[in-house]
Parts: sequence; structure tokens; C-alpha cells
Amino acid sequence: MKEITMQLDAKIPSGPLTEKWDKHRFELKLVNPANKRKYNIIVVGTGLAGGAAAASLAELGYYVKNFCVQDSPRRAHSIAAQGGINAAKNYQNDGDSIWRLFYDTIKGGDFRAREANVYRLAQVSNNIIDQCVAQGVPFAREYGGLLANRSFGGAQVSRTFYARGQTGQQLLLGAYSSLMRQVAAGQVTLFPRREMLDLVVIKGQARGILVRNLITGEIESHAADAVVMCTGGYANVFYLSTNAMASNVSATYRAYKKGAFFANPCYTQIHPTCIPVHGTYQSKLTLMSESLRNDGRVWVPKTPGDKRPPSQIPESERDYYLENKYPSFGNLVPRDVASRNAKTQCDMGKGVGETGFAVYLDFKDAIKRDGKEVIAQKYGNLFQMYEKITASNPYEAPMMIYPASHYVMGGLWVDYNLMSNLPGLFVMGEANFSDHGANRLGASALMQGLADGYFVIPYTIGGYLVGMDHTEVTTDHPAFKEATQYVIERTSKLLSINGKRTVDDFHRELGHILWEYCGMSRNDEGLLKARKLIQELRGEFWENSVIPGSDKDFNQSLERAGRVADFLEFAELMVIDAFERKESCGGHFNEGYQTEENEAKRDDENFCHVAAWKYKGDDAEPKLHKEPLAFENVELTQRSYK
Ligand SMILES: Cc1cc2nc3c(=O)[nH]c(=O)nc-3n(C[C@H](O)[C@H](O)[C@H](O)COP(=O)(O)OP(=O)(O)OC[C@H]3O[C@@H](n4cnc5c(N)ncnc54)[C@H](O)[C@@H]3O)c2cc1C
Repeated sequence: MKEITMQLDAKIPSGPLTEKWDKHRFELKLVNPANKRKYNIIVVGTGLAGGAAAASLAELGYYVKNFCVQDSPRRAHSIAAQGGINAAKNYQNDGDSIWRLFYDTIKGGDFRAREANVYRLAQVSNNIIDQCVAQGVPFAREYGGLLANRSFGGAQVSRTFYARGQTGQQLLLGAYSSLMRQVAAGQVTLFPRREMLDLVVIKGQARGILVRNLITGEIESHAADAVVMCTGGYANVFYLSTNAMASNVSATYRAYKKGAFFANPCYTQIHPTCIPVHGTYQSKLTLMSESLRNDGRVWVPKTPGDKRPPSQIPESERDYYLENKYPSFGNLVPRDVASRNAKTQCDMGKGVGETGFAVYLDFKDAIKRDGKEVIAQKYGNLFQMYEKITASNPYEAPMMIYPASHYVMGGLWVDYNLMSNLPGLFVMGEANFSDHGANRLGASALMQGLADGYFVIPYTIGGYLVGMDHTEVTTDHPAFKEATQYVIERTSKLLSINGKRTVDDFHRELGHILWEYCGMSRNDEGLLKARKLIQELRGEFWENSVIPGSDKDFNQSLERAGRVADFLEFAELMVIDAFERKESCGGHFNEGYQTEENEAKRDDENFCHVAAWKYKGDDAEPKLHKEPLAFENVELTQRSYK
């Protein structure tokens, strides 16, 4: 029988936008303080979303088991975040407000995000800053003592709070200290070096997970009343990305295979300012924070093929293309716009450096205006990082930068409560799809992770727990045995391939396919080709990859192989989603749909929806379900940053 396309219900509370969250919090049922200790909650992930959630839920009195793949929660990928975190405090008195942060985020996401979630995010942004200051996070301050702000892309106000170029690290240390307080109190049990390999669903409810102990190889089962997944993003599907090496899609993809819908998988973010690729065997790319575009000016030579060193190219022969094309936002246009423009310049032959795939980010004018010391205070560690990697001193010569895969807006589908379509499975931070539409604004990921963890889940999970089916579940349940069997079989299958080609080699080729056909710009022909290439590559992977070692001990080759096997399946879903969306919006730029000025052209009549995919089997097409997006408070317009 043909499955009917269902319209997903986001459970958005009724009433005016500005009152929805308050009203909902009042209407949500509460768990009595004494009853909270009867509930066990699994939190997978210890980044900003997971760390904040685990600490907050434990503080409320729930028992929490908290898992991560690293040896310490402090090594979650969030620690790499550089530039800052947004909040609508309006300390600068420059016209900011909750409404403006809401509007900028909706517009930045090219009108493909849910209004109610985004408004709530803007509302709680201010609480995040207060919470973090109370934890001792050392945000940069003005001379008079107020917290300092800088600007990020897609905004004309300064609302980004920062701790030099190490904001993620400082915020994570704050969350970690709250988490460790609860570990000491016995409310949180930490499980580092565990990789989630399956979700256990019993009677339609998420009731546990399976993990591999990465040190001993043992497969462990854990039961709970609810599972909160905060496992980060999948930008590493492109092989080269700015993400940590361990970032993966495995946890969310396995949940997808257990029935959770995957939303907008093709919405990925290519960040405009990264250190360009410099070799075939490179495995990692380095971000140069967007904050640098506050003072750095982006340019290329006006004449294609001009190979003179930058110091010999006079002002009159430089093209400050972002400032010229987008005078209102200049170098601070959103990431999708800045990335596409860099690509266009390089495709015209105006790219710089040895490969021609780079543009300049120049601080000469800022240093002349503010002095080297001021610039060093703001960006010192980023300049140092750049010099260490490239052996070029950005105080003296412009940086060379190029777009790179960085972040994903796609993720598991969640409703307003951050619960997936599987009751009891909550998804937060970069792992869900919820707040950024087709393009995320800079400094908004940290805001979302902490909003979800500190200020949303503590309320919404109670509402679920009160109404759930409370039948006791232990790890003796057949569903755990079945999942264990599946995980063991998949692992043995990987180890028995015995081929000739390394897993990294497959991953690298997958990355090339996606970058070429599903990267900064796409077209239908390329997407069809990519799908075929991915299928072929996946076939070869299961015949010809080589994975040394055993599953009984620490085996990083096996870890990587499992993740790459999932990337090889998931990449096809990305391409299917990109092919299905016959429009351009934000990070999804289909060349067939562009304005006369080569900007993304949306089709609001037919594609103003979230595309949520349901797994139907390894050999079956996934099924598309839609959540229509209703815009009642902002007008849908063609995005303009001119
Ligand atoms: C270089 C860089 C700089 C950035 N700078 C900024 C910035 O300045 N401002 C901003 O707003 N955003 C920034 N971002 C984006 C931001 O850092 C991330 O989106 C955010 O930190 C994600 O947080 P998270 O908690 O969702 O996931 P993560 O921090 O990625 O944490 C994921 C957690 O899940 C665990 N995990 C993953 N898979 C499994 C599994 N299978 N089993 C068990 N555990 C698992 C990991 O161990 C980890 O603990 C930056 C990103 C990068 C790459």
C-alpha cells in the first residue's frame, strides 16, 4: 500500500508570537521535585548542547547518563568555536532588540526556518549571557566594565559576545564546570569514550541506546525514560571540513534508521573564510573566524590572472567585490552570499595564491586605523594560528582564504519541544534542524546549543515524562538484544572485508563528489550523477576496503570505518533532498534557480516547507514528509544585502 505523505505537526503553541513560549511553559505539565529522581535520562554528547542539557537536567533532580566519544567532555567539538555568541542585549545601544535578532535570523536563513522556534531563541539569548557570566565565562569587556560586542555576518548591529577567538572553549568550560558539579553530586554519570551505535525503540518510544566502549570494544546497553541526542553536525561528510575529526553522522543516521525523520539534509554551510586546501593528503581544514570580517577587507585583483604579490597591486587595481556589490553589509554579508561570491571570483580567474582558489582578507587598513596592538587584542590567537599553518604573517601580508564545509543546518526533525517524531527522543544543538533555515548566521550555533540545553529542554522534557507510558524497561528487553545483534554483525562485516583500499581514501573520494556536485552550487544533472557515483563508491567500499585490527580493543580504524560507512549512505540522502528541492535558498543553491543578479531564487509557493525524510529500508527510496512553514509575523521577501 502506498504510504500517504503526512504533514508534520510542529506543535507550535497558539497565541501571539511574543507570548508563545511563556504560555507554553505555563501550560506544560510539571514533574514534582520528589518524582524527578524516579526518571533516568540519557544525554548523548557533551558539547555545548549536551553539556548544558546534562547539567541542567541533573540540577533539576533527574538522573542523567552522559556519553561522548572523546576521553573528556571538554574535548567536544564545541571547544573549537572561535568568534562568539549572539544575544539581543543591545549593550551597544545601536538598535538591537529581540525582534531584530529574530528577524535577522529568519531572513539570514532565507525564510526556511520556523518562526516560533527562532523567536524563542532570540528571547532566551539574553538569559544565556547571564548564565555564562554567572559561571565565570571571561567574556571580553569594554573599558567601563560592560561586556564587549562585535559584529557578525547578516546583521547591522553589534551583538556578538566573545572571549577573544576562543569563545567556544570558554563557554564549554562553563558548561563543564556545571556538569562536573552534578557528577560530584552523583546526579550525572559520565561515559567517555563511548560511541552510540544504535537507538532502542520500544512500543514506539525511545528507551535506550547501544554504545561501543572505544577502549575495550565491549558493546554496552543503556536503558532510560528518554534519550536526548546532542551529537553535533555532519559536515565531515565532505571529508575536508573545519569540524573536529570525530564529528560524524552515525548517531543521527542510526536514529533515522530507527524511524526518526531526517530534515533538510541538503542544507549545509560552506564558510567563506577558511585556510585554503594546500595538498592532496590533507585531512583537515582550519577556520578563520567570521569575526575577522569586522576589520578585514576581502578583495581580489581586478584583472584575471594577475599573479603579482598583493603589495604590488595598487588600490585602483583591486576589486573589493563584497563592499562594491553589497554596500549596506559590505564584508559582513551572510556566509552563503560571501562564499558564493568568492567562488564566482575564482571561477573568473581572479583567485590568488598558487592554486587560484583563494581571495585576500586584508587587515592593512584596520592596522593603520587602530594600530597593531588593538588588532592583536581582538584577533591575536587567530593571527598566530594562521601564521603557524601558512608561514605568512597576517600583520604584514593579507590572509588568503577560501570557502570550506563548516556547519550543517540539516538534522533530525524536531517539534517545538525539540522532540523528534519518535516520542522520547529529543534532539538538540547542531544535531537537529530547528532554528537556522537554509543558512545559519555567524555566532548563532553556540546560542542555539546553549538555548536548547539550558533553557528549553529543562521545561519540555517534563511535559513528556509526565504523560509517557511508564512501563519499566531494562536492558534485558528483546529490543536491546536485537540491536546488539545488529551492531555486532555490522562490525564483523566491516572487519571481514579484507580489501585493498583505505577507508580514508573512500572518504576522500566521497568528499570530492559532494563538493563538486552538492557543494556551493548544484544542478539537477550533477545531482543525478552524484547519486550514481555515491552508490558505486558505497558498493566498492563494502567489497574493497581494508580495516585492520579487531573489535576487542581500541581500534581507531574500525571507528572511522563505521562512520564512513554511514556517511556513504547518508550522502545519498543529501543528494536526494537537494534534487527534490527545485529552488535555491541559502546554502542550497541550485543553478537552475537564480535571480538575474545570480542570487538564490526561492519558490515560496511550492517549497516553503521543511523536507523531512523517513527511512524505508536499505533498498527502498526514503519517503518525504513535509512540515509547511507559515510566516505570520514577517513578510517573505527576496533577501537583499545591498
Ligand atoms: C572551527 C569552528 C568554529 C566555530 N565557531 C563558532 C562561533 O564562533 N560561534 C558559533 O555560534 N558557532 C561556531 N561554530 C559552530 C559551533 O561550534 C557548533 O555548531 C556547536 O559547537 C555544536 O555544538 P553541539 O553541542 O551541538 O555539538 P558538538 O560540540 O559537536 O558535540 C557533539 C558531542 O556529541 C558526541 N558524539 C558525537 N557522535 C557521537 C556518537 N556517535 N556517540 C556518542 N557521542 C557522540 C561528541 O563526543 C560530543 O561530545 C564553529 C564551528 C567550527 C567547526
